[in-house]
Amino acid sequence: MALLPIRIYPDPVLRVRCAEVTTFDAELAELVADMVETMHAAPGVGLAASQVGVEKRVAVVDLSVGDDAEQLLVLVNPVIVGDDGAVVETEGCLSIPDFTEKVDRPERVEVVAQDQTGATRRFVAEGWLARAICHEVDHLDGVLFVDHLHGLRRERAKRALKKLAKEQEQREWDAAAPASSG
Ligand SMILES: [Zn+2]
Repeated sequence: MALLPIRIYPDPVLRVRCAEVTTFDAELAELVADMVETMHAAPGVGLAASQVGVEKRVAVVDLSVGDDAEQLLVLVNPVIVGDDGAVVETEGCLSIPDFTEKVDRPERVEVVAQDQTGATRRFVAEGWLARAICHEVDHLDGVLFVDHLHGLRRERAKRALKKLAKEQEQREWDAAAPASSG
């Protein structure tokens, strides 16, 4: 298992629509294991493959952040087939550090997803679990939680993203600069 570097906004891979998984092999199992380890280490409650630079429809969710193995959810090719209710709660994203904002999400979602072996499951998730699944499924379509914001919340997000983009640019410049001898 290995920790994977988490891609930070405005990395273009975060805007990619990830491809359907059709091969359920050892490589996929390894990707899932690495994603789980990376999510727990971050620490975070969810991680999508595009956040580690892999353009596949794979996500992991664990509201317990590693405390309870039964809460780990592996979502391969997940589809939200139904939803109802509405809840507003504060959300964040490992790819958008130091910014959280209130986002409207369904209270309940019905999900059809495969796991790393290809087995299909259909289940209903509520509350924070529903929110986390919506957030990760969005990632697989290149959608970020800030895209759901309107009005003042959107303005705050814009400022935070601008700052983040500047920091990332600076980081790239620093990485590209020759080592100073002074
Ligand atoms: Zn996210």
